[in-house]
Amino acid sequence: MDFTGELHGRLVLPHDPDWPTARMAWQLAVDQRPSAVVFAASAQDVSATVVAARHLGLRVAPQGTGHNAAPLGPLDRTILLRTDHLGEVSIDPLTRIARVGAGARWIQVTDAASKYGLMALAGSAADVGVVGYTLGGGVSWFARSHGLAANQVVAADVVLADGTLVRADAGNHPDLFWALRGGGGIAGIVTALEFRLFPMTETQAGLLAWPIERAPAVLAAWRRWVDEVPDQVTSVGRMLRLPPLPDLPEPLRGRSLVAVEAVCDLPAPQADTLLAPLRALAPELDTFGTTAVSDLHLLHMDPPHPVPAAGDGMLLSGLPSGALAAFLGMTGAGRDLPLLTVELRHLGGALRPGAVKGGAVDGLDAEFALFAAGITPDAASVVAVHAVLDELRTAMSPWEAATGYRNFAERSRGRFDRPEVEARLRAVKSAYDPDDLIHANHPLPSAQ
Ligand SMILES: Cc1cc2nc3c(=O)[nH]c(=O)nc-3n(C[C@H](O)[C@H](O)[C@H](O)COP(=O)(O)OP(=O)(O)OC[C@H]3O[C@@H](n4cnc5c(N)ncnc54)[C@H](O)[C@@H]3O)c2cc1C
Repeated sequence: MDFTGELHGRLVLPHDPDWPTARMAWQLAVDQRPSAVVFAASAQDVSATVVAARHLGLRVAPQGTGHNAAPLGPLDRTILLRTDHLGEVSIDPLTRIARVGAGARWIQVTDAASKYGLMALAGSAADVGVVGYTLGGGVSWFARSHGLAANQVVAADVVLADGTLVRADAGNHPDLFWALRGGGGIAGIVTALEFRLFPMTETQAGLLAWPIERAPAVLAAWRRWVDEVPDQVTSVGRMLRLPPLPDLPEPLRGRSLVAVEAVCDLPAPQADTLLAPLRALAPELDTFGTTAVSDLHLLHMDPPHPVPAAGDGMLLSGLPSGALAAFLGMTGAGRDLPLLTVELRHLGGALRPGAVKGGAVDGLDAEFALFAAGITPDAASVVAVHAVLDELRTAMSPWEAATGYRNFAERSRGRFDRPEVEARLRAVKSAYDPDDLIHANHPLPSAQ
């Protein structure tokens, strides 16, 4: 295989000295073994890779960071197309539109937008890829007030499965444009994305934490609290078993905690009043206060660099007392769990389907999103974490919603969409990539 003459970027093959690092995903535990890795330097490189792959009878798996590499499965007869170097980020402060290359990470966008007093619907982690996150939906700290990130996309530059570069927007390739907004990267390879930003520089945000033994009282109070809060409040209730890592703030290192993290897009006095019932439980740690929007990537304490880890998630249609009891039975202080985090993100508000329109996935038809993850430095820990993730899924399955969420799915391969959405996505895939050249992490389920 050699199409290097056509590339501005780099082709790395298994015999090259940097093969071991070139094939690495952010999720270090995922052992990616593609036929080749291309680091694209331009949209033309993406196009050349697609044309070469077609000629060679190979598939192409686009990857920004590899945060969600686990579900890709085997990559034999596949070119791993890394977009790391397509990192352009430009902000138009007049139209409040960001244009980002396929390799941009959230921290680049939140930093650039904040210079103009603008906020993006970024995820919790600084180094998650903007494009992978947004194609899969995108649940941000402003999800309940602004909906999914995918629904704010106004255009995408896309290389199609025949190598053609097109612009997809409301007037051009409208079906492809629809599919890209929440349906994942099934039908084309995005080289740049344009999306709306919002005027905001600071907000009320922080974390309240208690020893994990307090979890039954704290999560029951949080569960009652989320029924009362307005849509400007997006919060997470989580169980943390933190390793003694220097990356973590000193008071949290090596601790097992129950925590509530929240962003309240409200004036400070109103946010303080709202928090009173949780503060009445006397948290050991309370960081809540006025926070720069550009600092929100620190709130969830996601690892700031690649890690060997395994995780999985599911949507819950509700969290009645039986569900909370099942959750606590699985994750409470009595269990010695190999999970760093088990979290419940409160949905609803502007995430209700159709509340913010625009794209294949225009909301999440569920009340909570569950996500859990553990560190997996060796084969034995992978087995242990997978076993607990499966156990957690089984315990919570009575409350599982009818649809799923691509971004939090790393192990499960269920159905994500309502049948009519899945049928339309299937039609778009057939029209744009009939030979299934593009290898997405979440392919459509096989047709019945
Ligand atoms: C620490 C951490 C924190 C997270 N926080 C959040 C959060 O707050 N909210 C949330 O919603 N999700 C969150 N996620 C999930 C995250 O959104 C998904 O893992 C997402 O898929 C990551 O996108 P990526 O580009 O970084 O990953 P990648 O693994 O590089 O990409 C995932 C998939 O996206 C598709 N894709 C990527 N680039 C392209 C492209 N250029 N063209 C076409 N398809 C493409 C491919 O199918 C690829 O397999 C988090 C994940 C982690 C590990």
